[in-house]
Amino acid sequence: MFRHGVRSFATSALRMAEPSQHLVAVSKAQGIAKGLTGAIGNTALIRLNRLSAETGCEVLGKAEFMNPGGSVKDRAALYVVQDAEERGLLRAGGTVVEGTAGNTGIGLAHVCRSKGYRLVIYMPDTQSQGKIDLLRLLGAEVYPVPAVAFDKPQNYNHQAARHAARLDNAVWTNQFDNVANRRAHIETTGPEIWWQTGGKVDAFTCATGTGGTLAGITRYLKDASGGRVKSFLADPPGSVLHSYISSGGELAERSGSSITEGIGQGRITDNLAPDLALLDGSLHISDEKSVEMVYRCLDEEGLYLGASSALNVVAAKEVAEKLGKGHTVVTILADGAYRYADRLFSRQWLETKKLMSAIPEHLQKYIVL
Ligand code: PMP
Repeated sequence: MFRHGVRSFATSALRMAEPSQHLVAVSKAQGIAKGLTGAIGNTALIRLNRLSAETGCEVLGKAEFMNPGGSVKDRAALYVVQDAEERGLLRAGGTVVEGTAGNTGIGLAHVCRSKGYRLVIYMPDTQSQGKIDLLRLLGAEVYPVPAVAFDKPQNYNHQAARHAARLDNAVWTNQFDNVANRRAHIETTGPEIWWQTGGKVDAFTCATGTGGTLAGITRYLKDASGGRVKSFLADPPGSVLHSYISSGGELAERSGSSITEGIGQGRITDNLAPDLALLDGSLHISDEKSVEMVYRCLDEEGLYLGASSALNVVAAKEVAEKLGKGHTVVTILADGAYRYADRLFSRQWLETKKLMSAIPEHLQKYIVL
């Protein structure tokens, strides 16, 4: 019955193997992660069936919500800590300091706990008590400080830098301008996408916070494909990058805001700078479209996504429509909706943000809070 094909080969190989070899083969097949950090990455690449049918393309989402800390930022967290260790800046019992209000803090908390480092987080005091509680619960020391712009010395990033400088055996991981963040995606996410699609990928798109994900994956896919794979930035309202790219390099003042947390940028970070020129264009995605896609992904695909992921899916759909039938477009499902449910699925919040009209009637049954 299994004379041909993989199954017959595997069965006969196992039958012939010595018991010790057999055990090694089984253990490798199960792929045991060496601690929590070994479980970061190697996430699923999910075909979004409905959008693929609608566009005649393969629309694929990299399920970064499957990382142990629940987001794409676990990869950068691991790389910035490993980079500090390799440079001798962080030794046993040391302290990691970062300015972050979101997923990077959660990723760092997991990585620091598993490696035995102290973690100190500075964040703007405009952030919810829920975020502070979660970080404290994961073992971090949290300092909420007044929310002031990046050019002010009291800004949470600069306070984090000064805190690390005051301590021995401590590092400010500096996710925005530390290019170990971008390297995480050149060395892991990019190759995974290439391998999972067998190199059959035509375009990539995602939004940026630090820029590490977009820049790193773009760099890898361009190199692997000899420049064939196209890459597009997806930008929310209140970010300056879309106008910077479409105007050919004019950096406007930041104005406006978006409900998409964790993305949008007011400057060109060191993570983004080396690869900006590689981009083939950018898309501006409205909050209305992002919120609608949160609901569509839940209803059509069973995917419970945060708003930045939904924005990425809208961008992937628009890129697919632009390229035409038969193409493969990949994007990032950065995190789940768990931390945002009290807003994204609340009628009162949607009304305050004037987003109720963005939700088609047949999807309003999901507004349960
Ligand atoms: N989506 C979410 C939910 C995030 O938290 C972040 C990081 N702030 C991003 C997207 C953007 O990732 P990156 O920092 O690599 O640009």
